[in-house]
Parts: sequence; C-alpha cells; structure tokens
Amino acid sequence: MAKIKFKPVDPKQDFVAMEKKLLEYWYKEGIVEKYLKKNNPPAGGPNKKFSFLDGPITANNPMGVHHAWGRTYKDLWQRFYNMQGAKGRFQNGFDEQGLWVEVEVEKELGFNNKKDIEKYGIDKFVQKCKERVAKFSQIQTEQSKRLGYFMDWENSYHTSSDENNYAIWNFLKVCRQKGYLYKGRDSVPWCPRCGTAISQHEILTEEYKEITHKAVFVKFIVDSSSLIGNSQLSSVKGQVSLLVWTTTPWTLPSNVAIAVNPDLDYGQWNIDGQVLIINVKRAKEMKIGEKPQKTFKGKDLIGLNYQGNFDDLPALSGVEHKVVADKDLVTDEEGTGLVHIAPGAGEEDFKLAKKENLPVIESIDEAAVYVKGFGDLTGQNAKGNPDLIIDKLKDKAILFKEENYTHRYPTCWRCKTELVWRVVDEWYIAMDRPSSANGRTSDGKPSKTLRQQMVEVAKKINWIPAFGLDRELDWLKNMHDWLISKKRYWGLALPIWECAKCGNFEVIGSKEELKQKATEGWEDFEGHSPHRPWVDSVKIRCNQCQSIVTRIPDVGNPWLDAGIVPFSTMPTDWFPADFITESFPGQFKNWFYSLIAMSTVLENTNPFKTVLGFATLLDEKGEEMHKSKGNAIEFNEAADKIGVDVMRWMYSIQNPTSNLLFGYHKADEVRRRFYLILWNVYSFFVTYANLNSWQPSAGQKPSNVLDKWITSRLNSSIDIVTKSLEQYDATVAANAIEYFVISDLSTWYIRRSRDRVEDALPTLYVTLVELTKLLAPFTPFIAEEIYMNLTGEESVNFADIPNTNEKLIDTDLEKEMTRAREIVEIAHAKRKEAQIKVRQPLSAFQYTGGKLPKEIEEIVAAEINVKKVSSGKSFKLDTTVTPGLKAEGEARDIIRQIQQARKEADCRLDQKIEVELPKWPKEFEAQIKKETLSENLIKASQLSVKKL
Ligand SMILES: [Zn+2]
Ligand SMILES: [Zn+2]
Repeated sequence: MAKIKFKPVDPKQDFVAMEKKLLEYWYKEGIVEKYLKKNNPPAGGPNKKFSFLDGPITANNPMGVHHAWGRTYKDLWQRFYNMQGAKGRFQNGFDEQGLWVEVEVEKELGFNNKKDIEKYGIDKFVQKCKERVAKFSQIQTEQSKRLGYFMDWENSYHTSSDENNYAIWNFLKVCRQKGYLYKGRDSVPWCPRCGTAISQHEILTEEYKEITHKAVFVKFIVDSSSLIGNSQLSSVKGQVSLLVWTTTPWTLPSNVAIAVNPDLDYGQWNIDGQVLIINVKRAKEMKIGEKPQKTFKGKDLIGLNYQGNFDDLPALSGVEHKVVADKDLVTDEEGTGLVHIAPGAGEEDFKLAKKENLPVIESIDEAAVYVKGFGDLTGQNAKGNPDLIIDKLKDKAILFKEENYTHRYPTCWRCKTELVWRVVDEWYIAMDRPSSANGRTSDGKPSKTLRQQMVEVAKKINWIPAFGLDRELDWLKNMHDWLISKKRYWGLALPIWECAKCGNFEVIGSKEELKQKATEGWEDFEGHSPHRPWVDSVKIRCNQCQSIVTRIPDVGNPWLDAGIVPFSTMPTDWFPADFITESFPGQFKNWFYSLIAMSTVLENTNPFKTVLGFATLLDEKGEEMHKSKGNAIEFNEAADKIGVDVMRWMYSIQNPTSNLLFGYHKADEVRRRFYLILWNVYSFFVTYANLNSWQPSAGQKPSNVLDKWITSRLNSSIDIVTKSLEQYDATVAANAIEYFVISDLSTWYIRRSRDRVEDALPTLYVTLVELTKLLAPFTPFIAEEIYMNLTGEESVNFADIPNTNEKLIDTDLEKEMTRAREIVEIAHAKRKEAQIKVRQPLSAFQYTGGKLPKEIEEIVAAEINVKKVSSGKSFKLDTTVTPGLKAEGEARDIIRQIQQARKEADCRLDQKIEVELPKWPKEFEAQIKKETLSENLIKASQLSVKKL
C-alpha cells in the first residue's frame, strides 16, 4: 500500500466552505463526468441498470428547500445503484410550459389579462416565456449541483422541446383513433383573470380558501295561473313567492329553475301580507314567523311556473321558469330548501339542466363580464360588486334578506382569483368510452374503458407508502373525463384541426404528417417550435368536406407535457422506469395520473415499477411555507447557512409519510446530534494515526473483542442499510447509520478504546472507510472529504457500496455487548445512588444473568471503574473506599486536572510537559507522569503546566 499522509483535521471545520471546495473539485477534475459513465459498460453485469425517471421540476422560480427533499431522494438512489455497478441515465427534467410560466411573465410585463397579451403579440409573449424557463432551468441546475445532485445536466430534458410536444401529438392521435378524444360542452370551473378553464385535476384542496360572500334570500313570484289546479296551493289568495337562498347573487340573471326535494316538508307562511314558501325545518331554524299556515311535500310544488327576477332582460325573453325535483342537490341543512338553478353558471345546475331539458343562459364572458342581452349589466364585471345585483333586487322589492356568509370557495391555483363556472366547449379524453369504435375487441368481448384499464395498470405498480394505491384508485374512480384544453398561449399546441363547416376534426400525429397535409402556411411555420402563433398558420384540407381547416386555438393541459416523458425521453429498453419519487399531495391527480393515463393508452402497461411518495415540507411551527407569509426558505440561503449535507441528512432520515418541519433550529440539532459526532470520530482517528505515524496495511484481522464487536456491528449495519435502500426505505437506512455512528462507534467503541488507541487504529480505519462509502449516497460531501483523506483515492463516488461480510457478523457477541452496556447503566445508577463519582475506583460489582465472557467483563469493569466484575445472584456494588482506592481516585482526579490544563495550554498530543502541583499520592506518581506525558512533578501552591 502506498504511504498515506493524513491531512490534519480541523475540529472547527467550516463545512460550507468544505462543501464548496469539493464541488469545485468534482466539476473541475471531471469527477461527476467519470461518475456518470462509471458503469458504462455496467460493472455489475451487462443487464444491470437502474432506470430512474425524473419528474420534471417547474423551471419558473429558484428552488426552495422543499424541492431539495425530493431531489435528495432522487440523488440518493441513483448514487446507491451506481455504487452497486448498475448503469444509469441520470437525466434531469424541466417542466416548462403552461399557465404557471405565463402568469409570471404577465407579472413581469405588468399585464392584467389576456387582452394585454394579445395587444403585446403572442409571438413576443411566447418568446418571453421561453426566456423565462431558460433562465430558471439554468438557475435550478446550479442550485441542484450545489445540493450535490449528480446528474447529466447537459442532457436534461425540457418539456417545451419539439420531441416532447410531438410525442404528445402522437399520443393524442392514438386517443382519437381509439375514440377517446372528443369536444364536449360542459360547465367547467373557470378563472376569469387567466381566461381559461381550470381542470378538475388542478383544483386541489389547498385551492379552497375561506371567503366571505354576500348571500341573499330572494323571492320568486309564482305564476297565479300555475296555481290553478294545484292540490295544495289552489286555494291561496294573493301573491305566492318561493324563497330562495344563494351565495352567488351574480348568477341570478341566469336562473331558469328552482329545485326542491320532493320528500321534504314545505310550508306556507304569511309575512307582511305575502305568502312565502319555505322548507319547514329551514323556516324554523331561520325563525320565520309563527307556525306555517299549511304544510305539504316538495312534490306538490313540482311543475309550478314562476317569474324570473330578470325576465325584462332580452337574454331571458321567452324563458319559462319552473320548479323541478332533485333529491341529491336539495337538503334541509342550509338555505331555504329551495335551490336556485342557473345551468349557465354551475356544474350541478348544468347536469340538472341536461336531465330536465332546461335552457342554459350564459351570462358572462371569459373575463366574467356580463355579455350582450343583459341590459345595463352588460359590460360590467359580474364578480366585482355583488351590490350590482342586490340593488336591483331591492328596487324590485324581492330581496327578503341579505347576510355575510363565509365558506370554502375554490380559487385559481395559479393566480388565486375566485373561480366561476361557465358552460364552454372544451376538449376531453373520455374515461368511460370503450376503446374501439364498435365497443368490441377483436374476439368479440366488450372492450375495456380507459378508466378500467388504468385501474388495472395502477395496481401493477409498487406504491410506497402502500396507501398511495388507494389514493390513486380513489381518484380514478371519481374523476371526470380529462379536460385537456386551455384557452391560453404558452403550451402544447393541441394538434386538432376542426372543420368550421362540417364539424369534422382531425388530429395530426407528427410534424411530418402536418407537413404532408399542409395546404398553406407551412413556410411561416417551418423553422419554429410547434408553438403558437407559428403553428397556427398551417392549414389543412378537411377530409370530409374538403374545406380549408384551421387549428383550434387551444393549448394543452401541462400534465400532458410531464406525462409523456417515459415515451419522449427514455430509450425503449429503459421502459418501464424502475423508480420515480415525488411529493404525494396533488400528484395522484397530476403527474402519477397523467403518466398512467398516457402509458395505458400507448402501451397498456405501467410506465414505472415503484413510486416513492413523500409528504409536505412545512416550517418549524408546522405551517405551510409561503413567500407572502415570509416563512419560505430559499434553497441557496439554507445551503449557505447549514450546508447541504445536514439538509440531506434531515430529508433522508425523515419518515416520508409525515410532513417535514424544516427550520434552522432543527438543522442545528441534526448537525450536533450526528454530523459533528461523525466529524469528531474522524478527527480522533487522524490525530492518533498521525501521532503514531500509523499506516494502513492489508489483511489485518481484529483480535480484540471491541474490534471484533465494532466490525460485527459495522457489517450488521451495512446489511440493514443496503436491504432498506433496495426497498426504497431511506429512513430505516439513515437511522441504522446514525445509531451506528452515535451509539456504537462514538459512545462505546471510541470511549472504551481510549486506553488502547494504537491497537484500535486498524479497525477504526477500516470502519471509517466503509462507513464513508455507505454514507456517500446520503451525505456525499463529508463522505468524500473523509474518504479521500483516509484512502488517498480520487473519489468515494467510484467506490462500490460495501457488501455485508456475513463471516464478520457475530450476533452472540453483539447480544453480549448489548447486555454489557445494560449492566453498565445499572452500575452507574448504583454509584449515583451511593453518591460516589465514577473517577473513584471501587473494588467489586456483581451482575446477574448468565456469565459474560471474561474480556467483556473487563470492558464493563473499565467503564464503571471497578476492580472486579463478576456474575452472581443480584446486582451489587461494593461501595467501600479503602485508603488504597482513595489514593487511586485522587490520582485519577489529578490526571484529569492536568489533562485539562494541557488542553488550555494548547499542548500538542505528544507534547512533553513539566507540572507544578500542591500534592499527589506518591504510589501513583509513575502512572500520573505516564498518562499526562509529564517529565517532572514539582511541588507548588497551584497546579500549572509548562511545555518542555
Ligand atoms: Zn387564474
Ligand atoms: Zn369539413
């Protein structure tokens, strides 16, 4: 072995500076490059590979500490498998298209709505979006490098790339061929600021905010003619009104019906000379008047006609309003038991309209402004001011009551604007249509729907934690058809050319196909990415009526972009991916969903084998981090403050199913608990190795029981760590390492080896070297620093992950040592009881249970400072302090004081000294001199040391 000079270790090391130095080394000396190609060809056999698929990070802002959690997992397993000899691809991904980018660019440019974008020019706007993602993908690359994340950064994939977009075109064409793709008219959640539909996938629970709205109780007057012949109400004299409650007064002009529950009890009350009809239970809770004059069932109201409150508006002319039944929608839990139905402005309303054949009155445009036909409302923003409607209700004397009502209301995930519901044409992928035109497979069986196939595919996947499968299946069970269109600018240009004349539509599956079918505009498009506005110039001929056809202006849902990546970025022999990992919340509806959907359509199989999901990163108090709240921690700030190894350790040891409370206090605790202990063990080794001019030599077998024990523990720990990592369990692995370092290595092995340091050096050396290899996937910086200094090798990244050496595991010895440590605890407790400090030697201690081997008894004796340890019937500590033991205790005290003085005088470990002190037991003079490296002990009034 080559002679190694161990670089001295600074106990007060600046770890952030150390990390930055190593980063420079890794990138300047080609370490990363060599690491990426290490197994090319694979060292672990020709077929050994680890297919990791990266969920693309949104390249829209700098990274926060929450991004570093997932990226630590991603790096950890790729490093682990690379150190096992498996070939990897190391491809990072950037998510670059979609509303999130558009909104940020709009902010940059000071835009308020889509009109501003169109005025500015779609081409210039799209260019700005491209520039923004180029900028932030670069920033995120640098930040990821700082995290120690080893990836093939030059070959990252970008979802805005031509390959990715055209791969989605192909997918959509297959959807069209299978009969899944369709244009539907539906009531959809809509953001009036962004001017686009928000798909069900995008409304997460966190997008519901507590909002206070003005709610109204409003009267609808029943047509007197429709009372004639009514079994319950025909005899009522005067005007009868239905009392309705709504939290969205702006939708009242779109009212076409009132729904009641046919089974509930309703009643009539006479209030201020008017008859009001309300649900009985609700009326009681609202404390309306005395007893009802009469009660009847909801079914008695069905079919009544009433006057709309805005029937004077042109848009409402000729509309017949009627009372309809709906058992699900109408309850007696809130409101009046009579529900205002506006199919143009509500999802349930629209469904009911289909069932009851009700007219759909659309009152607002894409910015929530009242459209033509609504009198003086036209041109006014419907969501801006509820009094716009309420004042009119007052004027018409039909407002019964108004109140403030606080409820959870959905907002736009991107701009936080309150959503509205609009009935619009959008494009969907059907979940429940059979997958061929005639609904039969080739052997005549009914073909499965996409939903059914996706359920089967989801079940093939290994979900960690296991509840992930239930969550995904739950979503698959309940979700609607997949709304894939957005009326926006920067995104996948949906490759749908729809004929304005005959309604036929064609889906183009590739650039080549488009070129072949283009009848005009190809020259304007050629040389551009398949984005708006360039692709919009290309026209084709309708294959039904031969008209010239234009592309629909819509762009795609961004999850199409991320869902296609197994097909657009991975060579086929890497499919399906072995592993993906992302934060759970949201992804069931988003990335996991789109991956499964697209892979099911294209291959009818799972695109990945295992998914590790993890929870949410919160601040130290358990609150969500938000820039606006001021509690968000930007990645660079944390990296410079606490170092990335400590962060990575926090992420690795965290139970992924629990939210991680991240903050600097917790980081400091982790640093002290684990990181510094490791550093101190390493520093201890180097100090004594250099002091003894010790050199590693091959083939040394441990013979001391402590050495045998720590070697056994090391191998047991390697076994747990590698097996846990193979099961994607970083928590158990990291805990095993932490326990080994803190409890076994530092607290017991080093402590019990202080009197035999030179003997312990070979074992300690091997232990540290193996430990750093095991640590490299978790905390690459400190692992590299220690490994390089101890071995003189180029990098720990080229080492193999340690293999468990079963022969070196001695479970009996491990059990005995565990018992020894328990016995020590009891002995220390007995001393404490007798108030005799550990430095005072005692003569005997007796323990119970089976007899321990003599060499272990000796370890116990040394630790508890007792002359003789033996097994017996009970735990017994002989507390007699003989004059001899007393003198020895004094000598121990003096040795400790001199050691302290040596430290204060900054003595080197091999520094010879001269000591002045008041007194010392003469029979221990030789021992004191030996242990403190003192040449002379001189009598004086005070203790002091002099360097010689
Ligand atoms: Zn919005
Ligand atoms: Zn046509």
